[in-house]
Amino acid sequence: MFINNIAGVTNKRKLKLRKIVFFAFPMSLFITSLNSGSNGNCYYVGNETEAILIDAGISCSEIEKRMKRLGLNIQKVKAVFISHEHTDHISGLQTLSKKYNLPVYITHATHGYSRLKLQKNLVTSFTAHQPVTVGNLSITAFPKFHDAADPYSFVVSGNQTKVGVFTDIGTPCENLIHHFKQCHAAFLESNYDVTMLENGRYPYFLKKRISGDKGHLSNKQALELFTMHRPSFMSHLLLSHLSKNNNCPKLVQQLFNEHADGVKIIIASRYEETAVYHIHNSDNTDLSIKPLLTTSSQLSFAFA
Ligand SMILES: [Zn+2]
Ligand SMILES: [Zn+2]
Repeated sequence: MFINNIAGVTNKRKLKLRKIVFFAFPMSLFITSLNSGSNGNCYYVGNETEAILIDAGISCSEIEKRMKRLGLNIQKVKAVFISHEHTDHISGLQTLSKKYNLPVYITHATHGYSRLKLQKNLVTSFTAHQPVTVGNLSITAFPKFHDAADPYSFVVSGNQTKVGVFTDIGTPCENLIHHFKQCHAAFLESNYDVTMLENGRYPYFLKKRISGDKGHLSNKQALELFTMHRPSFMSHLLLSHLSKNNNCPKLVQQLFNEHADGVKIIIASRYEETAVYHIHNSDNTDLSIKPLLTTSSQLSFAFA
């Protein structure tokens, strides 16, 4: 449902319409990408009364401006979760957290490497696979392969609906597959086209870094994950963190459209916010906790 795509609709009206939609589909969440790419990442997931942001990699004023344009109330944001310390995920965090007194969920290692000066009383760490509750939302982090100190992906559940935020991933690991299979919608990295990266101007070391096990997901890897592991109830796939130089939004849209099979394919832009998408659990999929049995050897491998 694309309330903000209706021409001439004011913000007040958008809010009203969203309330009506929510009343009609209470088993749902609202999501948007405020920005996605190596120039900044910020993803919004919320219900009717509260929301969280995953990462704050654009300025506080841009976050405010873009949320306002979408008719989203920033006062509903109750916490920010940080995936890792790379600048494109934290650059707006310090100001945002201070201005709105916003709690920040960030691990000790990520906080240390980020060099951010956050208010101590607002900082909380989190543990992989242990859900954190924010109002009626439940957020679970799990480790990912990326060249950062202590990187995580997140799944957010609420109102029987589950949304994944999966960017900055070198290798699609078992954890990712496990959680992807449970999502009604997902932000999934589709960073580069293999041929464009190979033939592009980047120095050899950078090409190796991007395509390496702790770099980024290629279009091919993302498509493989989608076609092999998408659940029947997935309704939206937001392809994210597209490279400016080694990818092309039209190419990604076309590639995934060919395999969409009913899933709405959206490209999350590196220049502006996407629409607000209304994700709902139409078939009451059972979202009771399904832990992944991870052996200690797999876990240590994940951090190797
Ligand atoms: Zn990034
Ligand atoms: Zn990164």
